[in-house]
Amino acid sequence: MSNGDLTIGFEQFDKNDPLRGAVLSLRAQGNLLYETSPGIARRYNCSTKGFWYRLEAPPLRPGAEEVIDIAAQQYPRVLHEWELIPGGYRSVTALVFREEQRQNTFRDGWLFVVRIRDKNCGQLAYFARAGRAGQVDLQTRVPELSSFPEKTVSVAGLGCIGAAAAVQFARAGLGNIRLLDPDIVDPGTTVRWPFGLSASGRAKVEVIARFLSLDYPFTKVDGRVNAIGRVDSPDVQNLPWLCDGSDLLFDATVESGVNHLLSELARERKIPYVYIAATNGGWGGMVICIRPERTAGCWMCAQHALEDGTITPPPESEPFIQPYGCADPTFTGANFDTDEIPLMGVRMATAALNPSYPSPDWDVAVLAMRAEDGHLVAPQWKTYRLDRHAECQNH
Ligand SMILES: [Zn+2]
Repeated sequence: MSNGDLTIGFEQFDKNDPLRGAVLSLRAQGNLLYETSPGIARRYNCSTKGFWYRLEAPPLRPGAEEVIDIAAQQYPRVLHEWELIPGGYRSVTALVFREEQRQNTFRDGWLFVVRIRDKNCGQLAYFARAGRAGQVDLQTRVPELSSFPEKTVSVAGLGCIGAAAAVQFARAGLGNIRLLDPDIVDPGTTVRWPFGLSASGRAKVEVIARFLSLDYPFTKVDGRVNAIGRVDSPDVQNLPWLCDGSDLLFDATVESGVNHLLSELARERKIPYVYIAATNGGWGGMVICIRPERTAGCWMCAQHALEDGTITPPPESEPFIQPYGCADPTFTGANFDTDEIPLMGVRMATAALNPSYPSPDWDVAVLAMRAEDGHLVAPQWKTYRLDRHAECQNH
């Protein structure tokens, strides 16, 4: 096949901005040669048709117009393929040729030339840089996360640390993520939340889901705007959806009753459970990762160990404050302090899910960002194995 047409998806067209988009499909003589994944296709709401040509050699000329001239020597019609657009014409030409992409490895290289001609015969031509965005291209950069595309993680609670963790999971190439949270984004909390005012007033689940679907289309997002609530409330109907078939429960809720419940549901299903929490002031935090068959203790064992000092609790500042217009006392702390905790939580979850990622020999990590008197210290993580506690009734 030496030439054909292609469809390019893009977000919007402004002739003053370079065309940015993705090849949605590629055809030759009416036969479909390539079609992008549905996750990439659905993020573009405009499309344009272009043409592709295979060249015998890489076009070694510096300018876009010159490269078109080289292509025209082999395919004269390159010069005449224009599409009518508001205010003029546009032409997108893709050139493909064999090139050495690694030592002794030859693959197809692509070059895209965009030409715009306005009604006064002014013409502009530029290269649109080609980048590879297939799932394999992304995964090559994170070989230790090779199991992620097949995994499902359920994230409960999308406060500042839960939302940041959800973004990290998708960025790392997780295949499926389930999100559960009842709240809308309060503009006052955007000092810590991953997104700012554009998110305020919308459900946290919807904001995160929309962002992940657009920017990480290989991660399938399933979200519910709901609380876990009390065991006797209708909200617990979401628990089978959250837990069944999931590979890991990631708990960023701040209610110990919910933490206990989710840890037990994970234990019943023999899947890892990860708990993350920040302490007030952004002074510290904690991650507990319970891996079936590796972690002897349970969530309740951890509570006993924190109580008797076997595990030193993280430092925290003075009690919560109550801002104007807020019914409840609120958490204080800076985003760059609290963000340390979801990073460790995702790291430990990753170790529990990916055999090719190193596995830690500890189950609990306690973070101190401040000394007892409030002095700033570099982030200090102290780690512990979680053993069975003599007073735990679960064993
Ligand atoms: Zn226990």
